Amino acid sequence: MSFEIVDRDLMARIGRFETKSGVVETPLLLPVINPSIQTVLPKTLEEKFGCRALITNAYIIQKNFKEAAAEKGLHDFLNFNGSIMTDSGAYQLLIYKGVETSPEEIVHFQEAIDTDIATILDIPTGWGVSKEYARHTVNETIKRAKKLEKMKTRDDIAWVGPVQGGQHLDLVAKSAKEMAKLPFQIHALGSPTPVMEQYKFDTLVDMIVTAKMNLPASRPFHLFGAGHPFMFALAVALGCDLFDSAAYALFAREDRYLTESGTTKLSELEYFPCSCPVCNKTDPENVRSLPKEDRQKMLAEHNLHVSFCELRRIKQAITEGRLWEHLEMRAHGHPALLQAVKKLGKYSEYLEKQSPVTKRSGIFFFSSLGLARPEVIRYRKRLLDRYSPPPKAKILLLLPQTRTKPFHNSKEHETVMKEIQQILGDTVDLVHVCTYAAPFGVIPTELDDVYPLSQNEIASPFDAETVMYVAKQAANYIKNTNYDRVILLRDPKVWMGKIAAACRRACKKKQVPFTTLQKRDPWAKNTIEHLAAVIQEAVMSP
Ligand SMILES: [Zn+2]
Repeated sequence: MSFEIVDRDLMARIGRFETKSGVVETPLLLPVINPSIQTVLPKTLEEKFGCRALITNAYIIQKNFKEAAAEKGLHDFLNFNGSIMTDSGAYQLLIYKGVETSPEEIVHFQEAIDTDIATILDIPTGWGVSKEYARHTVNETIKRAKKLEKMKTRDDIAWVGPVQGGQHLDLVAKSAKEMAKLPFQIHALGSPTPVMEQYKFDTLVDMIVTAKMNLPASRPFHLFGAGHPFMFALAVALGCDLFDSAAYALFAREDRYLTESGTTKLSELEYFPCSCPVCNKTDPENVRSLPKEDRQKMLAEHNLHVSFCELRRIKQAITEGRLWEHLEMRAHGHPALLQAVKKLGKYSEYLEKQSPVTKRSGIFFFSSLGLARPEVIRYRKRLLDRYSPPPKAKILLLLPQTRTKPFHNSKEHETVMKEIQQILGDTVDLVHVCTYAAPFGVIPTELDDVYPLSQNEIASPFDAETVMYVAKQAANYIKNTNYDRVILLRDPKVWMGKIAAACRRACKKKQVPFTTLQKRDPWAKNTIEHLAAVIQEAVMSP
């Protein structure tokens, strides 16, 4: 039951999890099979969708099909050869209160039906409950989890240790810490379904990150009830490895059509925005005219195709190192998702620590949302912790960014350098040229072709938050270094005086002389001549 991580991006992992019925690749979507209402048959999932795993409910099976399932075994009973995960009835406990089984009984039953991945009967916290009740659910779930070792009789089944606590993050942390100490093969975030139904994705970010921070990274993490493809990117980026989807069937039952960025009512569709095998063969009008059962089946199959497709897109983005870009794109599918991605800013330092350092592709920077991405945070930290300016440098010359990258190769910077060189000759080392640029801040010239400082594309004009971020980084750079003087070449059309203002304040605090040129065009011939004269004067002055 090993879990091998083969690729990573942000907190996402592509992994291989071994179950006794075969190896499955994560991130993995497990369609929910309700044994009483099988909208899409398990055999169909296997044959038509190449589906290697599904999830079903041990409690419902125990209640309605106990003998048949125990006698045949779950794989025969459902007619499915892949890996089967069973939930324990905790969700039923949450919805219907009281469940007619016991923690011991459901453990033994899951062993008896030969499931591959089993879940203890946890107590879901639910949404909007008192802290006292939430604490009770956490403590009781931990108590039951601790008893598992004594209850179980087989070692070939992977057990899921659910984390409870709901929106009480201190309890989520406690629950995760305790679960981490126990020998579970998988962890799960318990009962976030109400959170997701109400589109509280920003709260979900808090819950997932809190759980992940306190669980071993070497175990896969399951997000219960996250069935809508428009939120897969967010969940995967936060390190969720397994999902169960009942949404494909539930939405189909209500004549709702899923897309990778939202939900549409079948009644409102003129065209199918999809080319899956279902949508290719028909059109919305035709599907509307079908009997309910056929309609439902077609919609459910389409919904599954979209879900699997989105997961493949996410995996491809992981291998390319472009999951952040994919996440930003999905964030614009719904304001609640955008709000959740904004929430990532709160965890940007943690995200940076968890993200792999080497990436293969250039970065697309669309807006200030990207300021939370690991590359930006990592550069900021490394510049502060690991960088010091050349020892001879006395004067900091800050030049604005150019379209050409690396900046020192641009015609503009080359012209400035030539002018300075001519005037200063051997003493040119006294001047240290740096570029201020979005989104990274201050970039010393000797670093400007280091990945990803030149390997990025950014949309201009920059938004206010991005401008303020760069201004703050410029001020921080001055604060953390010891030049004798700072000279700034302004580009007022781009930076609206914000960089100059921030640098002036920082220099005043440090009592370092600060000069800036009040010119409209930073690269005009007379501006550069003026700049050279200012630098010459600075070098000459004691
Ligand atoms: Zn389709």
